[in-house]
Amino acid sequence: MSGFSKPDRSEHTDMNIDFNKMDGLVPAIVQDAISGKVLMQGYMNEAALAKTQETGMVTFFSRSKNRLWTKGETSENFMELVSIAVDCDGDSILVKANPRGPVCHTGADTCWNEANSSKTGFIDQLRAIIKDRKNNPTDKSYTASLFAKGINKVAQKVGEEAVEIVIEAKDDNKELFMGEAADLLYHYLVLLEAKGYELDEVMEVLIERHRKK
Ligand SMILES: [Zn+2]
Repeated sequence: MSGFSKPDRSEHTDMNIDFNKMDGLVPAIVQDAISGKVLMQGYMNEAALAKTQETGMVTFFSRSKNRLWTKGETSENFMELVSIAVDCDGDSILVKANPRGPVCHTGADTCWNEANSSKTGFIDQLRAIIKDRKNNPTDKSYTASLFAKGINKVAQKVGEEAVEIVIEAKDDNKELFMGEAADLLYHYLVLLEAKGYELDEVMEVLIERHRKK
């Protein structure tokens, strides 16, 4: 999974940002790369953007400090860069990041005082990794080896993991249960990919069912 967390800093070469509209500054909106929550908003100048890309830690131009300010430089609650995108007019930046701690100086998770604890967005990253292992298999990848063995083996693994979580459900060991819960979810996602189906299609079934009630 290491290949996924590294920011793609090559993107900036074709970014066309209009720093002249607002005296050299452009608003930068930071979104949690996993939960999708909007974390905070600051301003970047060219130097802040360059430092963000070089260090992999989100850095702003602070108007009150009148200097570059790397979020977390005093609190250690850095925001690790995942990706940067520029909006349609070239005058607003969307930064996706992984925050190491609460983002706001008040101690809140976000500057809008929202909780940011959901990790379910990681399923989308996991699905992308699984798809990549199918399309670009390597010898070292367990996921790729599952695809290589074919649909019967993948389906059988889901069955085995289902039995294992049933066994752990009867016990009281949270750690073992969580391990089996993760194994089942992972193999379930591999099975969907092996069948060529998207998780969104499963969601559509659930949404439709919910609608009928
Ligand atoms: Zn704040």
